[in-house]
Amino acid sequence: MTAALSILQEVFGYEAFRGPQAGIIDHVIAGGDALVLMPTGGGKSLCYQIPAIARQRAGHGISIVVSPLIALMHDQVGALHEAGVEAAFLNSTLTGEEANAVEKRLLRGEITLLYAAPERVTTPRFLALLDSLHERGKLSLFAIDEAHCVSQWGHDFRPEYRALTVLHERYAGVPRMALTATADAITRADIVERLQLENARQFVSSFDRPNIRYAIVEKKDPTLQLLRFIEREHEGDAGIVYCQSRKRVEEVAQTLTDAGITALPYHAGLDAAVRQAHQDRFLREDGIVMTATIAFGMGIDKPDVRFVAHLDMPKNIEGYYQETGRAGRDGQPADAWMAYGLQDVVNQRRMIDESPAGDDFKQVMVSKLDALLSLAEAVDCRRVRLLKYFGEDSTPCGNCDNCLNPPQVWDGTDAARKLLSTIYRVQQQSGISFGAGHIMDILRGKVTDKVTQFGHERISTFGLGAAYSEAQLRGVLRQLIATGALHVDAQAYNTLQLTEGSRAVLKGEQPVMLRESVSASGGGRSKRDKPSRAPSAVAAALTDEGQARFAALKAWRAEVAREHNLPAYVIFHDATLAAIAALEPQSLEDLQGVSGIGAKKLEAYGQEVLRVVAATA
Ligand code: ADP
Ligand code: ZN
Repeated sequence: MTAALSILQEVFGYEAFRGPQAGIIDHVIAGGDALVLMPTGGGKSLCYQIPAIARQRAGHGISIVVSPLIALMHDQVGALHEAGVEAAFLNSTLTGEEANAVEKRLLRGEITLLYAAPERVTTPRFLALLDSLHERGKLSLFAIDEAHCVSQWGHDFRPEYRALTVLHERYAGVPRMALTATADAITRADIVERLQLENARQFVSSFDRPNIRYAIVEKKDPTLQLLRFIEREHEGDAGIVYCQSRKRVEEVAQTLTDAGITALPYHAGLDAAVRQAHQDRFLREDGIVMTATIAFGMGIDKPDVRFVAHLDMPKNIEGYYQETGRAGRDGQPADAWMAYGLQDVVNQRRMIDESPAGDDFKQVMVSKLDALLSLAEAVDCRRVRLLKYFGEDSTPCGNCDNCLNPPQVWDGTDAARKLLSTIYRVQQQSGISFGAGHIMDILRGKVTDKVTQFGHERISTFGLGAAYSEAQLRGVLRQLIATGALHVDAQAYNTLQLTEGSRAVLKGEQPVMLRESVSASGGGRSKRDKPSRAPSAVAAALTDEGQARFAALKAWRAEVAREHNLPAYVIFHDATLAAIAALEPQSLEDLQGVSGIGAKKLEAYGQEVLRVVAATA
């Protein structure tokens, strides 16, 4: 057995490496430099933690982990302590005295991993400490986490990261690895250049997250749809709900709370202390739903988030993928659910139109938005499209809404042509443009005040679309706007205007295919809903007695977590507790093979776990 595998099993209690972990870890243990690109939840932490432990054991000394996520360091270090690994952090949350104590331990070589913020690492004081370790051959490894922060192209540029080149210049022989979950090629090239990793081996993983089920539903009454989704599939689960505005965040949190769900708001308008308190509760307690703007999430490494829901559409696929990626980091089944409607398309287009950016930049924004819209309108596998966007080819996944319930498509070409020609004729007749509601009224032959006022009952398409429901026409309009065959003018009361792209549709050269749910009269939801899953999928396979043991173990875990001032998942993951509940262990030997129980945890908690299990028998 390799040193790496025995550390994985003994210290972390895991059976086998995931994906490319083994190759990365062997390379770094041997002293190589590495650039690691892995999706969120891929298991990046072990890629530097195991080399740090192995190299410390081999006498190479201390590993330094550079991370911008100060708020997480306490829990990350706590998790290592729970596994019996000597770790510490240095950041601005420590008092001078505490920092001094850490520095002393560092110089005595008592630490295996030290976490520090980039601005700390590059101070003269810290560099002097590193010099001292280096002179004695006790500086083992630099792991630069969230490495995309070095790039202006990434979504989270931090100038302090630029100064990290000093590590390479000053400690040339010390291996360095950079890790990130940001995929795109420009950012990657920038990381290599800025951190001088030209000679590092690159490990690029698949960006697939097979345990996440993607679903995009048509938006009707989004808050109610969300509530039903949570009640049906995620009772008692932790989740994140993203909304665009602070006001919506507050409203949705209130609605969920009124329905008996523990939901907390999070947005930039809240007091910093309130925000922090909400984040802490989300991390520490079981089953909290965080309702948030995109301000929430950077560096949230809670592994048991069971769903991420979008009530408003993000700006692009990168944002969507990053946000949904916060679900299911533990590898257990999780949902990415989005409600999407005409208003989302209109809003996003307007935000681009109204932004002060230059035309080139706007063009990029538009094409990125288009890619997301075509994902939302897609009738084929969502995952194939997502991965394709990141440059990966794949086959239908069997775990997205379109794979599980292939939508019936209907031909909306005729409706689309009639809509466009109505818009054209109305513009011809009245010399001005109108909004979607009025155009649909004309096509459906409704005699409203506005219709009479403008004499639009004389338009030749008046009443020609009486057979279509409003929901159907709305779906057609949404797709026309999404594909650029129609323009919504935000500067002019959201009126509809023909574009270059309208012509092909008008002439019947460009078919318009839509999902069936749109065609159902009254816009009702498809009846073939996906089969509902038991709440808490992790424990679904347990018998009634098993469920009781699982609940007792969770209660016990909550107590331990409180005592240790750590999130519950740091003590044991849900999956570990579920495995114990199923196993009904009688002895420490029985517990030994359970995934997530390493030597230290077996020693610290084994007897108590056996007692909890025995007491629920
Ligand atoms: P990332 O930083 O890439 O988002 P993490 O390092 O936080 O991911 O890992 C995600 C989760 O997967 C963690 O809870 C971790 O304990 C678990 N994990 C990582 N590697 C393995 C493995 N080989 N076997 C079992 N669980 C693993
Ligand atoms: Zn699929």
